[in-house]
Amino acid sequence: MNRRLGFEVGPIRPPSEARSLIVRVTRNCQWNRCTFCPVYKNKEFSVRSVDEVISDIDLLCKHLSSIRASFESPHEISANQVWALTQKVNPMELPVFDYALKWFNDGMHSVFLQDADSLVIGSENLARILRYLRDTFPWIERVTSYSRSSTLLKTGEEGLREIRNASLNRIHVGLESGSDTVLRFVKKGATKEMHIRAGRMAKDVGFELSEYVMPGLGGKKLTEEHAKETADALNHINPDFIRLRPLALTSRAPLFLESEKGHFQKCNDIEIVQELLLLIGNLEGISSMILSDHILNLFADLEGRLPQDKERILSILHSFRSMDSESQLLFRLGRRLGIFESIGDMKDVRKLDRARNIATNKGITTKNIDTLIDNLMERFI
Ligand code: SF4
Repeated sequence: MNRRLGFEVGPIRPPSEARSLIVRVTRNCQWNRCTFCPVYKNKEFSVRSVDEVISDIDLLCKHLSSIRASFESPHEISANQVWALTQKVNPMELPVFDYALKWFNDGMHSVFLQDADSLVIGSENLARILRYLRDTFPWIERVTSYSRSSTLLKTGEEGLREIRNASLNRIHVGLESGSDTVLRFVKKGATKEMHIRAGRMAKDVGFELSEYVMPGLGGKKLTEEHAKETADALNHINPDFIRLRPLALTSRAPLFLESEKGHFQKCNDIEIVQELLLLIGNLEGISSMILSDHILNLFADLEGRLPQDKERILSILHSFRSMDSESQLLFRLGRRLGIFESIGDMKDVRKLDRARNIATNKGITTKNIDTLIDNLMERFI
């Protein structure tokens, strides 16, 4: 926990919320049992009181007001001016001033409520916080939160409507898989049917819905079932966004131990590409936006609107599959080292030479690349 003077920020937010103001409503995860997830393990869940959250908003507002009174837009700000302004700030409140300045620089468009599931505090309390946020920062365009399917169902249509009317716009749900076998194995605490019901309810009430999907979560054994059942669940929900976030294992996640014991065989990049072909190929009758906005994705450009971009998205995966094994190795390595973003980058001879030199100097071959990639990906979790 990152505890500041009267102002708290938790450990994670969705990549799409990088420019959002973070408002912490709960600490950690009430469920905390998903075996692939290391984020809140060994951390105790607690709810922050509405008054505590409101006092964070007030403190942030105080500093934002002084910044806005001094500058009309972020473009005007020089380092000297910021330094002059900080001289008037209580040193204990400097971290809050920094958050306020960052949000000002980011345009003050959106807010993200932390941590793992803000809706657990109940619709009445959440609506109070949302109304206070909107009253304090009336220009905000978007307020979003993570939630779990089981919490959405528990909140019910009436509660969700209350929260939506208080202007929560978007909910990010970790669907992870549509396969009940996979969901049970990783202790997600939801079934396919629950995911579908919760997702449809959120959409019916008027939320923008982001569903996170985790390629590779079924391992080698369940890869086909995972792909087909996930596509089927998504076809029933038609979420606004399908966000791909492939499995990466760290020793802090219980699933890592399962893998060490041989109860779970992790897919490599080539198997994930095959799984994605099956998953995306089976998405039918929906208009979702597919996004690969997490650094863990092998292809940063695997993005587009369904149905019109489906063939183009699939063609990226086919291109990778048709590459020879040396080119696949160089792309996998280069992508994870930040040399390439897309397959097209391999046409840049300097970039390609860089990847090739690293592979040669470090002795990276098709025999050891999987372990190396796993180690590199662990750093991004
Ligand atoms: S994946 Fe989400 S619900 Fe599961 S333990 Fe992690 S934070 Fe909690």
